[in-house]
Amino acid sequence: MAVFQAETLSIDSDDTGIALLKLDLPGRSVNVLTPQLLTDLDAALDYLARGTGLRLLVIRSSKTSGFLAGADIAEFAKIRTSAEAAALSARGQQLFNKLELLPMPSLAIIHGPCLGGGLELALACDYRLVIDRPNTQLGLPEIELGLLPGWGGTQRLPRVLGLERALQVILARKRLGAREALHWGLADALAASESAQREVLQELLSRLPQRGKRARLGLPLSTWRQKILESTGLGQSILLRTTRRLLRRRTWDDFPAPEEALAAVETGLDQGMTAGLAREREGASRLALSPASRNLVGLFLLREQSRKLPSEWQQPIRPLKRVGIIGAGTMGAGIAQLAALRGCEVIIKEINDDALGKGIITIENLFRKALEKGAITMEEYTRAFNAIKGRIDWQGFETLDVVVEAAVENLEIKKKIFADLEKRTNESTILATNTSSLSVAELQKGMQHPERVAGLHFFNPVHKMPLIEVIRAPHTSEETMRVLTQWALALGKTPVRVKDAPGFVVNRVLMPYMNEAVQLVAEGLGVDQVDGLMRRFGMPMGPLEVLDQIGLDVAAHVADSMLPVFGERFAPNAAFRRMSESGWLGQKKGAGFYRHRGPKHWVNRDVLPLLRAEAPAHLALVKSLPLAARLQQARERMVLLMVNEAAACLGEQLTESAVLIDLALVLGTGWAPHRGGPLRYADDRGVKEIADTLSALAGRFGPQFQPCAELQRRAQEKRPFYEH
Ligand code: NAD
Repeated sequence: MAVFQAETLSIDSDDTGIALLKLDLPGRSVNVLTPQLLTDLDAALDYLARGTGLRLLVIRSSKTSGFLAGADIAEFAKIRTSAEAAALSARGQQLFNKLELLPMPSLAIIHGPCLGGGLELALACDYRLVIDRPNTQLGLPEIELGLLPGWGGTQRLPRVLGLERALQVILARKRLGAREALHWGLADALAASESAQREVLQELLSRLPQRGKRARLGLPLSTWRQKILESTGLGQSILLRTTRRLLRRRTWDDFPAPEEALAAVETGLDQGMTAGLAREREGASRLALSPASRNLVGLFLLREQSRKLPSEWQQPIRPLKRVGIIGAGTMGAGIAQLAALRGCEVIIKEINDDALGKGIITIENLFRKALEKGAITMEEYTRAFNAIKGRIDWQGFETLDVVVEAAVENLEIKKKIFADLEKRTNESTILATNTSSLSVAELQKGMQHPERVAGLHFFNPVHKMPLIEVIRAPHTSEETMRVLTQWALALGKTPVRVKDAPGFVVNRVLMPYMNEAVQLVAEGLGVDQVDGLMRRFGMPMGPLEVLDQIGLDVAAHVADSMLPVFGERFAPNAAFRRMSESGWLGQKKGAGFYRHRGPKHWVNRDVLPLLRAEAPAHLALVKSLPLAARLQQARERMVLLMVNEAAACLGEQLTESAVLIDLALVLGTGWAPHRGGPLRYADDRGVKEIADTLSALAGRFGPQFQPCAELQRRAQEKRPFYEH
């Protein structure tokens, strides 16, 4: 019987004395803590605090999608002052304190995502029961948005998990699945499935009346490691000191969230929960207004928006279900696996049985790894793997909806494939190329129906990388662009529409940067020094690590194909060609800038003489600087080349807006997300300052630093890339 009803939740109760609070945010597929839900929860807790005869509160979600995915991120974007941020943190803290202090014990039943504010709510309950579903996940991912868990998470999690484990969740963003949650003591019981839940719940309920409310004393000290390390002030301070040292080494520059979160945990341990909560509020108010958090929250919302189809598009657009793929190499195999997992039937074509066999093994390995990681079930594996048919002839191509060409990067071979495709497919089949550097316009030449030809640039590894550049060539129809954009979304990726131009957006911006990184090594900086600089800037990998991963031969090829856009400004570094010719091709050959063995790699010192064969003209200039200044300048050289190229892409209208260039770089390369992308970074520093610094660098190091026309114009007009 419903005893309390609000817009976003309800409470049922019967004569057993158990109150069941069900969360159900209307109009959303997942529950998030909107202001309305917080208000309703507050009223519900007041009701429960008054209620007599209630012996237990059970909280669960009515949504099949999961328990509670966290705070409503759009609310963070509205915060304008630190007082507003502190008030939002205080509101959640007070609410969850109220939940914790209810007279009756409380139990959260968790299925699916229980993240951020969702986990903070569950932590304020006395007990937690988790349902063992593949998507059950408990975590505090606030750091990913440049924030800290501001609703008691930095205080309650260590008291449930222990200090070391809590730091892994809060700082290293570890998410616990259902079994791990039980093993680590975050959950008190595990139900194998929704149907087994009733039994487990009964068993738990039979024990709860004796156990009553849970005393919240100190750290749990449940494992031997915890007893040794966490039972004394000295042990705790060693743990905190080590963590702080690691943070300093590993955290991006200009990213204060981990340090603030650690300080809140530490205060709570040293001075108790009240002081800890106050420190949490202070941290939350500082972080909410930090540029890092503004940028990360902005990107999150932008990504959400890019994953929705424009409302003016007629729905439904033709779905692409029967897919052909040409080439079963690295990319073809990845695209085939993804399409099959997303419900498509796939024909993958190779040149001979040998290549096809290798391709099928690659696909099988991808499925096996996904299965081992728990990303897919055995049924999904079997169904999707069986939906892929390998061929060395054209059988079946006449009925396909789309073909993705992922053969070798050679224009003549691709032109021949497109000529064949025109004969072998029907007129409505969309033909897309996955080329990284060749002109899609060239492929349209001579075709009877060039309007159905476009680029679909996936990134490697396909299953991981969230971006697809959807490339519009001169004759590509709007219908083709829409159908491909929708398909990219159906594949779970974020599409960004880009005009056909050498390197599109992502490779175009990366190339000058990688070129400069090689130049810096030629001038005498260490390979690991250059990579370290950029990792601290916020890149997931250094530029030389990336070069090793894509292969020096491929990089040299891509660099050559971009010569037309770089013109006078640029010449690809001779070292690319030299390394490529001497067989230092990178990871695939076991050595490039680094030597690779399995997941390990270390600097390949043998490559240095090759890179430093000719002394660069400005060697004396850089060597005269003290090391710190030299490193700072090296970072400027690499970063500002990317900013300049991104501005040039905008000037050439390769995308519709600056925001989309930033989104493409963050999703396609992991570009320092807390800086929001190269153009947002330029705005944060000031467009004029960027243009002036580039001009000064051009005077010293050459024309590649000359600010592009777009940047100069904006600097003169004092007009940032973003309107607000
Ligand atoms: P790859 O060398 O691993 O695979 C290419 C496959 O195509 C080979 O198995 C080859 O046998 C096959 N092939 C060649 N000619 C063919 C034909 N006429 N018909 C059918 N199959 C044919 O190459 P890859 O790395 O998978 O790259 C494929 C395409 O994707 C290229 O255009 C590349 O530029 C692009 N791309 C690559 C990456 C990457 O990181 N590897 C990223 C984005 C885009």
